[in-house]
Amino acid sequence: MSDQTDRKWKFCPWCGGVLSTKFLEGRDRLYCGEEDRCLYENPLPATTSIVIDEGKILLVLRNREPGLGQWALPGGFIETGESPVEAAARELKEETGIRAYDPELIDTIHQESAFYQTTILIIGYRFDRFEGNITAGDDAGDARFFPIDEMPSIAFESHVSMIRKALAGGSNTP
Ligand SMILES: [Zn+2]
Repeated sequence: MSDQTDRKWKFCPWCGGVLSTKFLEGRDRLYCGEEDRCLYENPLPATTSIVIDEGKILLVLRNREPGLGQWALPGGFIETGESPVEAAARELKEETGIRAYDPELIDTIHQESAFYQTTILIIGYRFDRFEGNITAGDDAGDARFFPIDEMPSIAFESHVSMIRKALAGGSNTP
Protein backbone atom coordinates (compact mmCIF):
# COMPACT_ATOMS: atom_id res chain seq x y z
CA MET A 1 0.00 0.00 0.00
CA SER A 2 1.29 3.44 -0.86
CA ASP A 3 2.26 5.81 1.90
CA GLN A 4 -0.73 8.00 2.68
CA THR A 5 0.78 9.76 5.67
CA ASP A 6 1.46 13.11 4.02
CA ARG A 7 -0.33 14.02 0.84
CA LYS A 8 0.06 17.78 1.20
CA TRP A 9 1.80 19.56 -1.65
CA LYS A 10 5.36 20.61 -0.83
CA PHE A 11 6.17 22.42 -4.08
CA CYS A 12 4.20 24.92 -6.12
CA PRO A 13 2.61 23.11 -9.12
CA TRP A 14 3.11 26.22 -11.32
CA CYS A 15 6.64 27.41 -10.58
CA GLY A 16 8.16 24.57 -8.51
CA GLY A 17 8.93 26.89 -5.60
CA VAL A 18 8.88 25.56 -2.05
CA LEU A 19 5.49 26.09 -0.42
CA SER A 20 4.91 27.48 3.02
CA THR A 21 1.74 28.22 4.98
CA LYS A 22 0.06 31.59 5.23
CA PHE A 23 -3.02 32.63 7.19
CA LEU A 24 -5.38 34.26 4.73
CA GLU A 25 -9.15 34.72 4.58
CA GLY A 26 -9.75 32.92 7.84
CA ARG A 27 -7.59 29.83 7.51
CA ASP A 28 -4.08 28.51 6.96
CA ARG A 29 -3.38 28.06 3.26
CA LEU A 30 -0.51 26.73 1.18
CA TYR A 31 1.52 29.71 -0.01
CA CYS A 32 4.04 30.17 -2.81
CA GLY A 33 6.48 32.94 -1.82
CA GLU A 34 8.05 33.01 -5.31
CA GLU A 35 4.79 34.16 -6.85
CA ASP A 36 3.14 35.65 -3.76
CA ARG A 37 0.00 33.59 -4.18
CA CYS A 38 -2.00 31.06 -2.19
CA LEU A 39 -3.07 27.65 -3.42
CA TYR A 40 -6.74 27.11 -2.77
CA GLU A 41 -7.55 23.51 -1.90
CA ASN A 42 -10.95 22.13 -2.84
CA PRO A 43 -12.84 18.92 -2.10
CA LEU A 44 -12.38 15.91 -4.37
CA PRO A 45 -15.61 15.22 -6.28
CA ALA A 46 -16.76 11.61 -6.45
CA THR A 47 -19.92 9.78 -7.42
CA THR A 48 -21.73 6.77 -6.13
CA SER A 49 -24.49 4.73 -7.74
CA ILE A 50 -27.51 2.99 -6.33
CA VAL A 51 -29.05 0.29 -8.51
CA ILE A 52 -32.08 -1.44 -7.05
CA ASP A 53 -33.74 -4.39 -8.78
CA GLU A 54 -36.71 -6.26 -7.36
CA GLY A 55 -35.92 -5.34 -3.75
CA LYS A 56 -32.21 -6.02 -4.14
CA ILE A 57 -29.34 -3.52 -4.14
CA LEU A 58 -26.12 -3.76 -6.14
CA LEU A 59 -22.92 -3.69 -4.06
CA VAL A 60 -19.26 -4.22 -4.86
CA LEU A 61 -16.57 -5.87 -2.77
CA ARG A 62 -13.66 -3.44 -2.65
CA ASN A 63 -10.24 -4.88 -3.46
CA ARG A 64 -8.25 -1.78 -2.58
CA GLU A 65 -8.10 0.85 0.15
CA PRO A 66 -10.02 2.62 1.46
CA GLY A 67 -12.51 -0.03 2.54
CA LEU A 68 -10.42 -2.99 1.36
CA GLY A 69 -12.36 -6.25 1.79
CA GLN A 70 -15.65 -4.49 2.55
CA TRP A 71 -18.81 -4.03 0.53
CA ALA A 72 -19.75 -0.60 -0.77
CA LEU A 73 -21.75 1.12 -3.45
CA PRO A 74 -20.10 1.27 -6.87
CA GLY A 75 -18.48 4.63 -7.59
CA GLY A 76 -15.33 6.65 -7.90
CA PHE A 77 -13.81 10.02 -8.66
CA ILE A 78 -15.09 12.32 -11.38
CA GLU A 79 -12.55 12.95 -14.12
CA THR A 80 -11.94 16.34 -15.70
CA GLY A 81 -14.44 16.96 -18.51
CA GLU A 82 -16.96 14.42 -17.22
CA SER A 83 -20.34 15.32 -15.81
CA PRO A 84 -21.15 13.75 -12.43
CA VAL A 85 -23.73 11.45 -13.95
CA GLU A 86 -21.35 10.37 -16.73
CA ALA A 87 -18.77 9.52 -14.07
CA ALA A 88 -21.32 7.53 -12.08
CA ALA A 89 -22.35 5.52 -15.16
CA ARG A 90 -18.72 4.94 -16.19
CA GLU A 91 -17.67 3.70 -12.75
CA LEU A 92 -20.72 1.48 -12.63
CA LYS A 93 -19.79 -0.05 -15.99
CA GLU A 94 -16.14 -0.53 -14.96
CA GLU A 95 -16.92 -2.11 -11.60
CA THR A 96 -20.07 -4.13 -12.32
CA GLY A 97 -20.31 -4.49 -16.11
CA ILE A 98 -23.78 -3.00 -16.46
CA ARG A 99 -25.01 0.03 -18.40
CA ALA A 100 -27.45 2.07 -16.34
CA TYR A 101 -30.14 4.54 -17.40
CA ASP A 102 -32.70 6.95 -15.94
CA PRO A 103 -30.53 8.56 -13.25
CA GLU A 104 -32.14 10.34 -10.35
CA LEU A 105 -30.04 12.62 -8.14
CA ILE A 106 -30.30 11.38 -4.55
CA ASP A 107 -28.04 13.65 -2.54
CA THR A 108 -24.67 15.37 -2.22
CA ILE A 109 -22.69 14.45 0.87
CA HIS A 110 -19.31 15.69 2.03
CA GLN A 111 -17.08 13.54 4.17
CA GLU A 112 -13.64 14.02 5.64
CA SER A 113 -11.40 11.21 4.44
CA ALA A 114 -8.46 10.13 6.58
CA PHE A 115 -7.21 8.03 3.68
CA TYR A 116 -7.16 10.84 1.10
CA GLN A 117 -6.50 13.50 3.77
CA THR A 118 -9.05 15.84 2.29
CA THR A 119 -12.77 16.36 1.97
CA ILE A 120 -14.59 14.11 -0.48
CA LEU A 121 -17.75 15.48 -2.09
CA ILE A 122 -19.95 12.52 -3.01
CA ILE A 123 -22.79 12.90 -5.51
CA GLY A 124 -25.20 9.98 -5.42
CA TYR A 125 -27.48 8.77 -8.20
CA ARG A 126 -30.10 6.12 -8.31
CA PHE A 127 -30.45 4.32 -11.64
CA ASP A 128 -33.79 2.66 -12.21
CA ARG A 129 -32.97 0.83 -15.42
CA PHE A 130 -29.96 -1.13 -16.56
CA GLU A 131 -28.84 -3.71 -19.07
CA GLY A 132 -26.05 -6.27 -19.14
CA ASN A 133 -24.85 -8.98 -16.83
CA ILE A 134 -23.08 -8.35 -13.55
CA THR A 135 -19.32 -8.84 -13.97
CA ALA A 136 -16.96 -7.55 -11.32
CA GLY A 137 -14.07 -5.50 -12.68
CA ASP A 138 -11.65 -2.65 -12.03
CA ASP A 139 -11.33 -2.15 -8.26
CA ALA A 140 -14.23 -4.48 -7.45
CA GLY A 141 -13.35 -8.03 -6.36
CA ASP A 142 -16.99 -9.05 -6.58
CA ALA A 143 -20.30 -7.43 -7.55
CA ARG A 144 -23.63 -8.78 -6.40
CA PHE A 145 -27.24 -7.91 -5.67
CA PHE A 146 -28.21 -8.23 -2.01
CA PRO A 147 -31.74 -8.23 -0.62
CA ILE A 148 -32.10 -4.80 1.00
CA ASP A 149 -32.95 -6.31 4.38
CA GLU A 150 -29.92 -8.64 4.21
CA MET A 151 -27.20 -6.16 3.27
CA PRO A 152 -23.68 -6.80 4.59
CA SER A 153 -22.01 -4.01 6.57
CA ILE A 154 -21.07 -1.12 4.29
CA ALA A 155 -17.54 0.34 4.18
CA PHE A 156 -18.49 4.02 4.27
CA GLU A 157 -20.94 5.93 6.43
CA SER A 158 -21.63 8.23 3.46
CA HIS A 159 -22.82 5.22 1.43
CA VAL A 160 -25.09 4.06 4.25
CA SER A 161 -26.61 7.52 4.33
CA MET A 162 -26.99 7.59 0.55
CA ILE A 163 -28.74 4.19 0.54
CA ARG A 164 -31.11 5.35 3.30
CA LYS A 165 -32.00 8.47 1.32
CA ALA A 166 -32.46 6.56 -1.93
CA LEU A 167 -34.82 4.10 -0.26
CA ALA A 168 -36.77 6.87 1.44
CA GLY A 169 -37.18 8.93 -1.70
CA GLY A 170 -37.29 6.30 -4.41
CA SER A 171 -40.39 5.88 -6.51
CA ASN A 172 -40.45 2.08 -6.37
CA THR A 173 -39.20 1.52 -2.84
CA PRO A 174 -39.90 -2.09 -1.89
ZN1 LIG B 1 4.63 29.21 -7.48
